[in-house]
Formats: sequence, C-alpha cells, structure tokens
Amino acid sequence: MLDINSIRKDFPIIESTVYGKPLVYLDNGATTQKPLCVIDKLRDGYLHHNANVHRGVHFLSQDATDLHESARQRVQQFLNARESAEIIFTRGTTESINLVAYSFGEAFMNEGDEVIVTDMEHHSNIVSWQLLQARKGIVIRHARLNELQELDLEHLQSLFSERTRLVSLTHVSNVLGTVNPVKKIIDYAHSKNVPVLVDGAQSVPHLKVDVQALDCDFFVFSGHKIYGPTGVGVLYGKREWLDKMPPYQGGGEMIKTVSFEVTTFNELPYKFEAGTPDFISTVALATALDYVEAIGLDDIMEYEHQLLTFCTDEFHKIPGMRIFGNAHEKSAVMSFLVGDIHHYDMGMLLDKLGIAVRTGHHCAEPLMHSLGILGTVRASFSFYNTEEEIEKLVAGIRRVSKMFGM
Ligand code: PLP
Repeated sequence: MLDINSIRKDFPIIESTVYGKPLVYLDNGATTQKPLCVIDKLRDGYLHHNANVHRGVHFLSQDATDLHESARQRVQQFLNARESAEIIFTRGTTESINLVAYSFGEAFMNEGDEVIVTDMEHHSNIVSWQLLQARKGIVIRHARLNELQELDLEHLQSLFSERTRLVSLTHVSNVLGTVNPVKKIIDYAHSKNVPVLVDGAQSVPHLKVDVQALDCDFFVFSGHKIYGPTGVGVLYGKREWLDKMPPYQGGGEMIKTVSFEVTTFNELPYKFEAGTPDFISTVALATALDYVEAIGLDDIMEYEHQLLTFCTDEFHKIPGMRIFGNAHEKSAVMSFLVGDIHHYDMGMLLDKLGIAVRTGHHCAEPLMHSLGILGTVRASFSFYNTEEEIEKLVAGIRRVSKMFGM
C-alpha cells in the first residue's frame, strides 16, 4: 500500500493554509499539484540545459535535444506506443484534439461525413468538431447516457452509418468519473472500419493505458493533469494515420526544405511540431511519468478507489445529497448538489473552510443540459488525498447545508 505521509511531503503546496485553515485540495481533475522532483527538473532545465533544440551544432543545444527526445521515448514507453515518432508533443489535450480535428478532418472528411462523440465530452472534444463542421459541413452525432450516467452502448452503435469517419470520445468523464469501455468501442468501430480517438485527459493519471492493447488510433492527454508541468501535452497517433494527415501549423521544424515555389514537410513527429517546442516542460513531464510509475498505477488505482468508496458512503448519509455519476466503473470524482443550494454558493463557502472544489459546468455544458442542471460541485481526488480530508469535506457540506436551513 501507499505511504501517503511520505508522498504528501513531495507536494509542499498541499500542506499550505488558506484563510488560516489547512488547504484541502480537491480540484485535481482541473490540475494536479507538482511533486518536488518535477519542480526541480524545470529549474534544472533552465539552469543547466537551456538551448533551443534540433537546430544547434553546439553542445548545449545537442544536450537539450537529447533530453527532449528522451522525454518523447519516455512517453512512448508510458503509453506503450510502437515508436517514438508516433508521439507528438502539443500544448495539451485541447491542442491535440484540435490538431486531429483539423488535420484528420482535412484529409479524410467531407461535407456530410460524420463524427460520433458522446454526451459526456469536454468542450474541447465538441467545439473542435464544430469548427470543422463550420469549415466543411461535417455532421456531429452524439451518444446518450443511461440513468447511471454510463454510455448507452446500443445507442452509440446505432449512430454508425456509411458516413461515419471517426469516433472521438473521452476515456473517463471529468464530471461523472464514468470510465468508458473504450476497448469494446474501439473493437466495434474497427469492425466498421472507423478509427477512434480517445481523450485520456482524465484517465492517464488514474489508470494504466496501453495504446497498442487498446488499439486506439489516437490518444491524447495533458501533462498538467498527471503531475507534470503546464503547457505540454501529447498526441499519440498510429503512423498509418499521421503519415497521411497534413500539417496543422506551418513554421520552423516542420519542414524539410522551403522555397517560395515549393515547400516539403518534415517526417514524423516533427511534421506536427511547428516552432520551438516547450522542451523544458517535456523533460519535466517525463519526470512526472517516472514519479507516477514509481508509485505504481495499480496501487494508485486501488487507493483512489478506496477514497471514492469512502466518500460515496459518507455522501449517502447527507440529507438532500444528489450524486451525478453512479457508473459501475468510476474514477475518483464526486459531482454533487445538495437540496437546492446553488453549486456556486456551496463552492464559495467550502472555500472559506479551506476546501478547494470546482463548481459550474466543468466545460461540459451539453452534459449539464442532458442532466437538466446548470452545474455541479465537483471534488476530484488524487493519491495524495486522505480520508481525513474527505471527512473535512463532508463536515463542510453539512455545515453549509445547515446554513441553508437543511
Ligand atoms: N478533456 C477532458 C476530459 C478534460 O477533463 C479536460 C480538462 O479538464 C480537457 C479535455 C482539456 O484539457 P486541457 O485544458 O489541459 O487541454
């Protein structure tokens, strides 16, 4: 089992106080805190390894390039991709999805062609396709959820047609915690010759991912949600797709030769990495992946599940509690409302007790529409959280409920 006391020492910020109260940080779905080793790596990068990558013959540039390319190999290993050229560094999940929507859309989608998403998508996996819709007239179809807020697989399958070109769905819902059966969906989609993009923003920090075992065609995630730095993310894509897709942006690094008459593009992965990459952050992301794997994703999963069960049991005892997301397979996220207390009031008052939760639509407005609500309060857990912190959350919710006469 995990040594939580020792793990917590790696994250000084979670031992800080707000309004004179110990911080209880339960907004890990939005971003995770960074362990000291990641913070040190960023500092070390700027102190000792800072020179632009890929372009210099001098020592420092080659050193920075080696570190950056080793980080790519680390991500390849982490996802079990076939080759490091299938790992594209981006700014995050959002940019990765936009890249696919633009470039896959450019190569493989025409007016009337369809993409299937789900009702639980983050805006980044909806609006990116709407931009393509505006550009090319594609059609967005969306699969609904059942009463437990799990994907309705029959409905999803019924959306496939002759015009389906891609399924793009989240692995884990940032609002509901629902873990989607992506392997099953990928197998079904492939039986119809349709590729699948998996949004792993909320899955990689909590469960083991093997892109070859999943056989997904694209997989995307953000560094900052897996204890890494902001500003860096990943697009994994199968070479067979990436090779056929045009560049997303033009600039340095993504070209082989440029003239005013003809420009030729670089090979993978550089074709999709125009401009100077965030080479200090890619290296620190690799350190974050080392950190997570040293703790062990199996142990993380088990511990976080324990937190989720504890929190669920405690929440069920709170009068007026409504939990959104009751999937059989669920990650450690609790979205809730109590009576008719506005989510914003609950969040503001919990904050005054030192408890950081998120409120609102969580960048998933269509999901809110399908649930018939404006927003929720969301507590999202990490392996550095404890049952004592959940007890504080529960006591805080009870206190706020009392203030509202419940
Ligand atoms: N997809 C999901 C499921 C998310 O939870 C998030 C962020 O909360 C995103 C995409 C967007 O991630 P980012 O803002 O890091 O690009």
